[in-house]
Amino acid sequence: MSETPPPEKSLDPGLYIVATPIGNLGDITLRAIEVLKACDGVACEDTRITGKLLKHLGISKPLWRYDDHSEHRDRRRLVDSMQTRAVALVSDAGTPLVSDPGFRLVNDCHSEGIQVTAIPGPCAAIMGLTLSGLPNDRFMFAGFLPNKDKARREYLEGLASIDSTLVFYETAPRLLKSLDAIATSLPNREVTVARELTKLHEDVRRGLPHGLMAWYEANPPKGEIVLLVGPPVRVETTDADADALLLEALETLKPSQAAAQVAKRTGLDRKALYTRALGLRSE
Ligand code: SAM
Repeated sequence: MSETPPPEKSLDPGLYIVATPIGNLGDITLRAIEVLKACDGVACEDTRITGKLLKHLGISKPLWRYDDHSEHRDRRRLVDSMQTRAVALVSDAGTPLVSDPGFRLVNDCHSEGIQVTAIPGPCAAIMGLTLSGLPNDRFMFAGFLPNKDKARREYLEGLASIDSTLVFYETAPRLLKSLDAIATSLPNREVTVARELTKLHEDVRRGLPHGLMAWYEANPPKGEIVLLVGPPVRVETTDADADALLLEALETLKPSQAAAQVAKRTGLDRKALYTRALGLRSE
């Protein structure tokens, strides 16, 4: 194991990105506490939330509200101050920059030659992935799904061919709609709902979207959620299978739509399916 730098006494100037708990305060790391104690101030999303965490840790520091939409001037001032001060960046919970502010700050620090380091720790996406039972050799973090039905469907369809587990952040009131959209746009995929991670009512449930919908209709979900969708299931499709699927689709759809639908179900090339659909229609 490599040597760790001496803790706390003093920190070199720069930006320290500090992960904080996602529910269970016991998950704060020793290094996170050391850096929060030794830094000159803390940039945070919500000064009340971070104030509570620091109070719990017995730490008192200047708190500066920061989000990536802060005025350019304010960000500049914060970055300039890091020439001589050690500034910690925290978000309300978990790892800053993961669906949380910080990207622009880190980007500016790199441009200005300011030292940036991170104190790693809890992250709901990673914890959800590790508990999901879904393949994790490749995964894509895809943030929050859009709110509007059409945008949500289009977003999911854009991800349909990605050969990785997909990780989304979700909220309880939207879960059923999102499961429904996944059932339509990403059919036959295994899904995991990881809820209230690290908290008293932590719950991880896996199944197909319709089964999960039935469960959550009967047991309305509460709290914070990571929603994970397994990669496309590739089944060998013979030419005869593809023809049968195309013929079925052509009963209600135009050839281009039938080809798109069968391509989505089978992973076969849409253009080749379209040519075949035209042939089948004229036979
Ligand atoms: N940066 C944070 C992280 O590292 O996890 C995520 C911030 S994002 C604004 C908040 C979302 O993370 C929530 O809406 C939920 O989807 C997910 N999340 C946060 N805490 C969670 C928890 N304890 N259990 C499940 N999901 C959680």
